Amino acid sequence: MEKQRKKRKYFLPFLGAFVSLFVFFVCCVILFLEIYAYRDGREKAANAGAASSAVSSGRSSPQSSAGASSAAAIAVTDQNLILVNYSHKLPDGYLPDLVSVYGVQLNRRAAAAYQKMNSAAASDGISLWISSAYRSVERQEELFRQEIADYSKSYSSQGEAQAYAEQSVARPGYSEHATGLAMDLNGVRNDFDEMPAFQWLSEHAQDYGFILRYPKDKQNITKIKYEPWHYRYVGVEHAQSMKEKNLCLEEYLDLR
Ligand SMILES: [Zn+2]
Repeated sequence: MEKQRKKRKYFLPFLGAFVSLFVFFVCCVILFLEIYAYRDGREKAANAGAASSAVSSGRSSPQSSAGASSAAAIAVTDQNLILVNYSHKLPDGYLPDLVSVYGVQLNRRAAAAYQKMNSAAASDGISLWISSAYRSVERQEELFRQEIADYSKSYSSQGEAQAYAEQSVARPGYSEHATGLAMDLNGVRNDFDEMPAFQWLSEHAQDYGFILRYPKDKQNITKIKYEPWHYRYVGVEHAQSMKEKNLCLEEYLDLR
C-alpha cells in the first residue's frame, strides 16, 4: 500500500515535467522551421528581383536600369576578371548586369568604359564601333550550329567540322560574349590589325580597361585563333598590368 502511494505521488510530477519538456521541444522545432522558411523566402524574393532587374535593364536605357548592379549573384573576387573560355563555362545563374549602348547590350561597367574610350578615339580622329557585344547562350548556340554547318562543307566528318568550328566560335556557354564584358569592333575583319583604329587600340585600350583578348602570340593558350577585333573589359588596373607584362587573361589569372 505504502509503495503504491509513493508511486502515485511521483507519477503526476513526472508526467507534468515530461509533457512540459515535450511541448517546449515542439515549440523549438516550430520556431526553427518558421525562421528557416522566412530566410528562404527572403532569399528567393531577392534572387527573383535580381533576375528580373537584370533582364529588364538589358532592354532599357542605362539610366532606367540603375540598381541592377547589386544583383550580382556570383562568387568571384573580381567580377571584371571572370574567366569564360574553352574549359571554363559561364557560371549558372550569372547575371551580366546589362545596359544598352550604341544599339548593343554591354555590362554596365564595360559600357561606361567603352563610352569614354569611344570619345577619346573620336577626338583623335579614330572611329570605333561595336559589331557585337553581349550574346545570350541561345544566340551562341545558333552561331555555333551555323559554323559547324559551314565547316561541314569542307570536312567529311562531323567531329572534324566541330573541332574547327570551336576554334572560331565558342561552344554555347563557353563564350565570354555571354558575360557582357566582351565586344567585337569595327566589323570583325581579319585585316583590322592593319587599320589605324587597331593601332590606336594597341596604344590606348588598356587605359580604359580593355584588352585584346585573343592575341596572335597566345593562340596556344587561349585556344582561340587570333581575333584582332575582340576586346574584353577587365578594368583599368588589370588591363594596364596585362599589357605591360604581355599576358593574356589565362596567364594573368594563373599568376594571381
Ligand atoms: Zn568576339
